[in-house]
Amino acid sequence: MSAKKIYERPIVTKNQAGFMNKFGSSSLVKPKVEIDGVLVKDLVQKWGSPLFVISEKQIRSNQRNALRIFKSRYPKVQFAWSYKTNYLKAVCAVFHSEGSWAEVVSEFEYQKARRLGISGENIIFNGPDKSENALLTAIKENAKIHIDHYDELYKLLEITEANNLKANVAIRVNMDVGVYPKWDRFGFNYENGEAWQALKRIVISKNLNLIGLHTHIGTYMMSADAYKIATNKLVDLAKGLKNNFNINLEYIDLGGGFASHNTLLGQYLPAEEVVPSMDQFADAISSGLIELSGSLDELPTLVLETGRALIDDAGYLISKVIANKRLSTGKRAVIIDAGVNILFTSFWYKHKIHPANETGVHTEDTAIYGPLCMNIDCIRDSIIFPNVKKDDLLVIDYVGAYNVTQWMQFITMRPNVVMIMQDGTVELIRKSEDIDYIEQLEILPSSLKNR
Ligand SMILES: *Cc1c(COP(=O)(O)O)cnc(C)c1O
Repeated sequence: MSAKKIYERPIVTKNQAGFMNKFGSSSLVKPKVEIDGVLVKDLVQKWGSPLFVISEKQIRSNQRNALRIFKSRYPKVQFAWSYKTNYLKAVCAVFHSEGSWAEVVSEFEYQKARRLGISGENIIFNGPDKSENALLTAIKENAKIHIDHYDELYKLLEITEANNLKANVAIRVNMDVGVYPKWDRFGFNYENGEAWQALKRIVISKNLNLIGLHTHIGTYMMSADAYKIATNKLVDLAKGLKNNFNINLEYIDLGGGFASHNTLLGQYLPAEEVVPSMDQFADAISSGLIELSGSLDELPTLVLETGRALIDDAGYLISKVIANKRLSTGKRAVIIDAGVNILFTSFWYKHKIHPANETGVHTEDTAIYGPLCMNIDCIRDSIIFPNVKKDDLLVIDYVGAYNVTQWMQFITMRPNVVMIMQDGTVELIRKSEDIDYIEQLEILPSSLKNR
């Protein structure tokens, strides 16, 4: 028996049929039927919707590519995976198996790295909030502690002196790199001499072993030149250490922040056209480092804490269409089962969205909303999109960075996360939550029971 057609009030709207839009790019949205050779509909059949999908192959290819690009310009390069960008065990394990260290910004992340078997000396411990306990563990395990402020420096001096220990440290440096607003809340300032003062205090301590310099100039940086300025400033400090104290640093750490290929909300042109390539970032940094003279042995290792640029395009979010509706203006709205609570990055990015099946060629300006009962739950407020039906599947691109760390449980449960392995098999890497999981931490006072 065929389903009875449901009456829908007709509305006259302007359809676009595959021509160039006014920005010169084709408005045709290509369907994305499979990810790494696995059918989207099969993924949802087995693991449900919404569903985060991560490609092992893409992570490895991104990491290898970046390492190759940097190594061809500067011989000593070490990546350290930025845990806060995506700290699912499986994701971190892929990066570690490519040779990356761990870059952590909290005690929790430090513990996660240790549990994955990363030794202290391969952990970079960043962040403004390191408890005394966390510092003591990090010192004992020979982690690389990046000092953020004077109070932390004094705390480290106290702990190491009291326990007769030696800590491996670097300082985080903030500076003017020509990008505004300046990121000056983390680390010691370069221009006003604070960084140099802090270095001098470290150098005269018997308990602190100065091994590196660190900066992280911002995130989603669209200027390669900013990295050149940052490198020059760190190189200047490194030369000062060499000339004044005969110290050869083990490494210079330029942090993360390379923009990924997601387009920002306010950005006019697609990211692919405006974001510098990895080669340009590498040129900028290596041209600064080359100013350090010395034998290969003496040259510091370049450390990079690249996050989003290595993972964004390895992550997808599959979502199902719940309903189509018309707004009061006549504009089409599509409601999907993934909201901003699991796709935090939709507050910054114009995420690319594809239907998972063939659609007609007619497209129209559409708003795509999530399922939350909140006005802010908007995935795209305006996207030229083909007609999709209830229960159709959509694939949201470039969601690998920051979503599965910043997502929040709100009204619904966080969904399954799967990884498509290199060999094409699919592994569940984080189970969807259920009500028992959520409620296991709640306590109902006995005076409120059985009311
Ligand atoms: C967040 C962060 C990173 C990673 O930044 P991306 O923009 O994701 O590359 C690296 N280092 C530090 C210190 C960070 O806080």
